[in-house]
Amino acid sequence: MRISVIGCGYLGAVHAACMAHLGHEVVGIDVDHDKVRALAAGVSPIFEPNLDTILSSARESGRLTFSDDPAAAAGAQVHFVTVGTPQRKGENAADMTYVHAAVDALLPHLRPGDLVAGKSTVPVGTAALLAEKVAASGTGALVAWNPEFLREGFAVEDTLTPDRIVYGLPPAGATTVDGVPAQDHARRLLDEVYVSALEGGTPLVVTDYPTAELVKVSANAFLATKISFINAMAEIADATGADVTALADAIGHDTRIGRRFLNAGIGFGGGCLPKDIRAFAARAEELGKGESLAFLREVDAINLRRRQHVVDMVVDELGGDVVGRKVAILGLSFKPESDDIRDSPALDVAVRLKGLGADVVATDPHAILNSIRQHPQLGFATNTVDALFGADAIVLVTEWAEYRDLDPERVGELVRAKVVIDGRNALDPQRWADAGWTYRGMGRPGVA
Ligand code: NAD
Repeated sequence: MRISVIGCGYLGAVHAACMAHLGHEVVGIDVDHDKVRALAAGVSPIFEPNLDTILSSARESGRLTFSDDPAAAAGAQVHFVTVGTPQRKGENAADMTYVHAAVDALLPHLRPGDLVAGKSTVPVGTAALLAEKVAASGTGALVAWNPEFLREGFAVEDTLTPDRIVYGLPPAGATTVDGVPAQDHARRLLDEVYVSALEGGTPLVVTDYPTAELVKVSANAFLATKISFINAMAEIADATGADVTALADAIGHDTRIGRRFLNAGIGFGGGCLPKDIRAFAARAEELGKGESLAFLREVDAINLRRRQHVVDMVVDELGGDVVGRKVAILGLSFKPESDDIRDSPALDVAVRLKGLGADVVATDPHAILNSIRQHPQLGFATNTVDALFGADAIVLVTEWAEYRDLDPERVGELVRAKVVIDGRNALDPQRWADAGWTYRGMGRPGVA
């Protein structure tokens, strides 16, 4: 099947490579010339496990090409829209400029029966708007919404073997393509795209546009709420001497609750959860249902408080003044196994400490270059030993395996003072305490 993927960022580059890996003929299109040039040369512009391998094998197969020209989409039967939907500057709502620009640029190249399949995370109502736009173009093309659930760090795996697939199809009775109802035609095309996953038993939910759009934002709202819930419990644990980790283990045994996403820490970040919950709440307000999602504002507020909490802990441990004190920041990406620093709590903590006058030296296995571009004022070390050397305090803010596995005895020989703030509850408190460290975790006051 011939596919175009419009927007080759964290989602689109992976989607394009995986679709070609599955045997489809794919063209990836992006307005960013550097990104296109890198991808066309088989170099991934982002760090994502296994993406390089799958990208180069797909390229060698001859089934994957990249272009910065929207005309390259001509001839594809399904056009995936995977452009960004960031938060509008100074507002909570999503900036839909890129989605509209991508579809506008695609219109002249659409043929009757082509399917524009939206994957970007959008405000509910977008698919219907785009369907009107496509219908008005007289191209005879159709629109479906096919939200994406991949997790950065597992993006290739999640795209090849998703845990569910959702189709938001055109309304029944919408135009026909060669006598076939639009709904059936769109479904047939998407079934062909996802044949391997569907044959492998991936659950499929076939629904309408608004439900498909809402599935994505409600899933993210639920996950964000779960994280902020346990972080609120961490605040109570700090005030009472309870241990939020034991609490999470205990409540997580209840299968109605589940243990996953119940890790207290410095909170969520990245290019999705924070902006998605804000855009969802903003959309609810537009719909006159602001009170239904008012709780998401609290979820956001709890989440943002965590960052300052870690900063306060560092200040506290350094006797109330961090000026000129060396603070080693372990991690910059918003999560391990990714170089993505969009709204990264780790980077935010580093910036706040620098703002207070600390001599911040930050390190990360893959996110240093991105961080230097955004915050050149920070100090960086390209390896963990250099970051730790002579530190007055170390702050673990992204739980990369190499930081989890640090040996407290060995690290103790490098630092000036044995103070560790574990922003992800990733370390064994007893082991660090036994090695003479002052250990402070998130919601674990009992194990200092
Ligand atoms: P991104 O910023 O990494 O990528 C967006 C890409 O679109 C960029 O490369 C940009 O140059 C390109 N682009 C912008 N306008 C374009 C146009 N008119 N034509 C062609 N290309 C254009 O963003 P992302 O993380 O890949 O996210 C894309 C969308 O997918 C967002 O709506 C996001 O919420 C959603 N999403 C992301 C993830 C994730 O884990 N990153 C997961 C699920 C859903």
